[in-house]
Amino acid sequence: MRFGAGPVHARWTGRPEGDLGPAEASDGSELELRRRALVDRSWSWATQVHGADVVVVRGPGEPEGARADALVSDHPASCLAVFTADCAPIALASPEGVLGAVHAGWRGLMAGVVGSAARAMRDLGATRVEAALGPCIHVECYEFSPGDLDRAVDRLGPTVRGVTTTGRPALDLPEAVRVSLQEADVELVADEDVCTACSPGHFSYRARGERQRMALVVWRA
Ligand SMILES: [Zn+2]
Repeated sequence: MRFGAGPVHARWTGRPEGDLGPAEASDGSELELRRRALVDRSWSWATQVHGADVVVVRGPGEPEGARADALVSDHPASCLAVFTADCAPIALASPEGVLGAVHAGWRGLMAGVVGSAARAMRDLGATRVEAALGPCIHVECYEFSPGDLDRAVDRLGPTVRGVTTTGRPALDLPEAVRVSLQEADVELVADEDVCTACSPGHFSYRARGERQRMALVVWRA
């Protein structure tokens, strides 16, 4: 999809595209060929650690071995990827063509990964920052321990508290994303509105113990 006012594209994969990461994919490997078939660029990605660190990608092929949960870039040839199963994949774009990709689980959101990514984009010249949210686990499937849920509510506000379909305490991850975007003055302009646990077309660690990862790829046309 193309989103926002600028030249930025975003694509989320599902089960049909198979396991896309997170692994090094060198020249000609089966994984690299499948990545290239989706978006024919050199993908940039980092080792995701559920933190708030951001990597600024200065060109295709970077970064080597960075640990971060968000990538941003103003380079026209850059192609940013994050890998998720139930966590939230967030694409970011500005009219200037500054782009970002964020892997946002509840720990990363509490650490402020969305704000860090938006700041890093503004440092690169982004004026208005817009977001699109991909498939992630939704509240009806995301049972949470009461202690962790209290911590999330302390940090992100009462609207992230929910219940599962069976009436258990649950975290509303899409709402936690919306709150975080609002805090960072980023407008959510698109939401795939798909629950990875409910959807047979997506991988879910929580629902099915699946280890495969889907990709969010963000690039400039
Ligand atoms: Zn669900």
